Amino acid sequence: MHHKLRARELTRTFGETHALGPVDLQLTPGEFVCVVGPSGCGKSTLLRIAAGLTRPSTGTLEISTSSPRPAAMIFQDYGIYDWKTVLANVRFGLDIQKVPRREANTRARDWLARMGLADFADAYPSALSGGMRQRVAIARALAVEPEILLMDEPFAALDAQLRTILQDELLALTQTTRTTTLFITHSLEEAIVLGDRVLVMSARPGRVIAERRPPFARPRTGDIRSTPEFTALKGELWDLLRGEVHQEQHTAAVPA
Ligand code: ADP
Repeated sequence: MHHKLRARELTRTFGETHALGPVDLQLTPGEFVCVVGPSGCGKSTLLRIAAGLTRPSTGTLEISTSSPRPAAMIFQDYGIYDWKTVLANVRFGLDIQKVPRREANTRARDWLARMGLADFADAYPSALSGGMRQRVAIARALAVEPEILLMDEPFAALDAQLRTILQDELLALTQTTRTTTLFITHSLEEAIVLGDRVLVMSARPGRVIAERRPPFARPRTGDIRSTPEFTALKGELWDLLRGEVHQEQHTAAVPA
C-alpha cells in the first residue's frame, strides 16, 4: 500500500523536555486518522512536524504527493483575517497558489455554499458567530483541495451542540472528498465519529500506545453516537487514556 504520509521513529525534544516519541505513523490515501492523548503529550508537535512547521529531532517524515497540491492545516484558533472579507479569506490559499482570480472566486464561492455561508461572501468575519468563523476556516483549507488535511483541535473552542453539528458536516464532507486527514482531538466521541482509526498516545513523551478501528461502515452518520458499539469503544478508549492522564500531573481537563 502506498502511503500518503509515513513517519518513522519521530522524536522531538525542546531543550530538556522530551516532548514526543518515538512515533511511527502511516496514513493511507483517503484515510481519516484521529489522535487522542493527554494534554502536553506532544499531539500538536506531531501535527506541526507533519505540516513541516517543526523539525523532528530524530526520525523521518515522508509525504507523497501525486500533484503539486499542498497539504493544508487548520489551526486550533481560527486563523481568519478580520480585515479580509469571508470570500477573500476562503480564497487565501488559492491566491498563494496563484490560481487565476476568476477560478479562485468560483472555487471559494462553491466551498462557501457547501458550508452554508453563500450569503456571507462579502461580509467581514467580525459579523460572524464562532461556528460560522470556523466554517470559513474549514472552507479555506478545503478550497485548496489539499492532499492531506491536518487538523489540530479545530472544534475545541465551540460549544457542545455546534461541535456536534460541525463533526457531522466534516464527516459528510470527508466521506465525499476522501481527503487523507490527520485529526488531533481531546474528545473521544469526536475521534470515534470521524476516524477510520483512533490512535491513543501516552503521556509525554507521547508514543502511540493503542490503535482502534471504530466498527462502523462508511458512509456513516452521526447516528452511530447512540449505538452500544459506540459507547463500548468510548469506554475502552477512556480506560486506555485514564492511566496516561493521571501521569500528566498538570492536566486539569478530562477528555469529553
Ligand atoms: P499537546 O498538543 O499534546 O498538548 P504539545 O505538542 O503542544 O502537546 O506539547 C508537548 C510538550 O512540548 C509540552 O510539554 C510543551 O510545553 C512542549 N513544547 C511544545 N512546543 C514547544 C516549544 N516550541 N518550545 C518549548 N517547548 C515546547
